[in-house]
Amino acid sequence: MAKHKHSPLTFNVAQLLREEVGSRRHHEFTEEVLPLHERESLRNIAGTARFTRTPSGVYVESTVTGVIHCDCMRCLQPARVAITVTFTEEYVASVDVTTGASLVKHVDDDEDDDRFFIDEHHLLDLGVALREYALLELPMRPLCKSDCRGLCAGCGVDLNVEACRCHQEPVDERFAALKALLDSSESQ
Ligand SMILES: [Zn+2]
Ligand SMILES: [Zn+2]
Repeated sequence: MAKHKHSPLTFNVAQLLREEVGSRRHHEFTEEVLPLHERESLRNIAGTARFTRTPSGVYVESTVTGVIHCDCMRCLQPARVAITVTFTEEYVASVDVTTGASLVKHVDDDEDDDRFFIDEHHLLDLGVALREYALLELPMRPLCKSDCRGLCAGCGVDLNVEACRCHQEPVDERFAALKALLDSSESQ
């Protein structure tokens, strides 16, 4: 992603970082999609965020609504889960906004460091925290609808759209012969 054309979820906080502790900004934003995981994404994103300057960075208070797009665990068709998340996190400045000096050592190397960072261009990516909070809202067993009938374990048809074929079609020759025998005995 080019630095000059960043996501609506990314905010340049350089000016706020130059202000005194306690200074605030209020933002409203929308974004079409934020990838969450391999097959899941958050879409129709709309939210508000309040940024407050702290001694070490920016404290974020945000409320976001969106719709998680994922797969129904029963029928594998698309499932939609509307969510609202409210979170607070501090984003730590990685460089001093005045001097440009690095404030954080080995940000990328330390896997145990789970803090959120404002990057060296003073960009605060709200999507990083939003992704974590949205994933917490992802159901363990998402469904396309509460009464989804799923796929038949025998014939594999989507039982929401067609009838199970397991007992309609003979599965092999012997079964067909048996069925013919039964049919003929019934007609006698
Ligand atoms: Zn389903
Ligand atoms: Zn079946």
